[in-house]
Amino acid sequence: MLMATLPVSAPRDVNPMSTRITRLAPSPTGALHLGNARTFLINWAMARNNGWRLLMRIEDLDGPRVKAGAVRQALEMFSWLGIDFDGTALRQSDDLEPYRDAMRRLAGAGLIFACNVTRKEIRQAASAPHGEEQEIRFHAELRPTSPDVFRFDGEETNYRLLTPDETVLIEDGFAGRTLHCPHREVGDFVIWTRRGVPAYQLAVVVDDARQGVTDVVRGDDLLPSAARQSLIYRALGCEPPGFWHLPLVIGEDGKRLAKRHGDTRLERYRAEGVSPQRVIGLLAHWCGLCNDRQQWTAEDFRSAFSLDSVPRTPVTFTEEDHRWLTAGRC
Ligand code: GLU
Repeated sequence: MLMATLPVSAPRDVNPMSTRITRLAPSPTGALHLGNARTFLINWAMARNNGWRLLMRIEDLDGPRVKAGAVRQALEMFSWLGIDFDGTALRQSDDLEPYRDAMRRLAGAGLIFACNVTRKEIRQAASAPHGEEQEIRFHAELRPTSPDVFRFDGEETNYRLLTPDETVLIEDGFAGRTLHCPHREVGDFVIWTRRGVPAYQLAVVVDDARQGVTDVVRGDDLLPSAARQSLIYRALGCEPPGFWHLPLVIGEDGKRLAKRHGDTRLERYRAEGVSPQRVIGLLAHWCGLCNDRQQWTAEDFRSAFSLDSVPRTPVTFTEEDHRWLTAGRC
């Protein structure tokens, strides 16, 4: 049965004169690879072509998975490619107070509850749920009944958001209109973890809201997360940003680019002497900007970029792509 539909986000018109803000939000839990480089490059080109302010946010709250040196390496890779940003990078772990403040507001509204769950669930909650990862639904029958638990007073506990049983409409600037029901997909999801840090879903909302982000560009494996985040925006009385969810890069086996497809890290190609122009040329080819793989700078990419050329379906990283990259080693 379809519940009340909640229109929560709408694509905004592109107006070069507006004060729109977007962000690059890498997680230092792994190195940048060709797949996320493509999304970041598109985000950068959209920002630069439309006069949006482009912020850098390091999403490093997933403590156990954060890799030493990954932040520095990610920033180096951005600059190697020619992707710049405005202002200084914000690191989530530097100040947890804005997230605590949001938790207190949600608790005041009776929208969260303390809940003890397993370690595995905590790990899943702290990081962004990227496709293929198994999600466990938290059923409403498991909700506590004591009013005591609807408070935020102990940080070393998991807290969940009470999800309403309703349909959420996302109007995405790229993916179009999609309907979601977080209540049925994941139920009451974790927004604060017992490690004493906010879960991905809460952190991203608090940060996008306080940084004034108007446009979020990211991989479409996070489209269901947009619906969850929309519920948090509403609970906090904030307006969600416009979303642009882009298809992922996949391997020849049809699965999203990952370690199983070999080493597709930018760092690896750079270390082997592959030029950033080859990498960008390949990404441009994947974005439908040029028929053949060519050597392009970020600036070439930006001036040729049009969202209309970007394929609506996932792009496959092939052996031929890899051969083309490594053929130009110096
Ligand atoms: N840091 C997140 C990730 O790597 C991105 C989240 C977002 O763009 O909302 O998955």
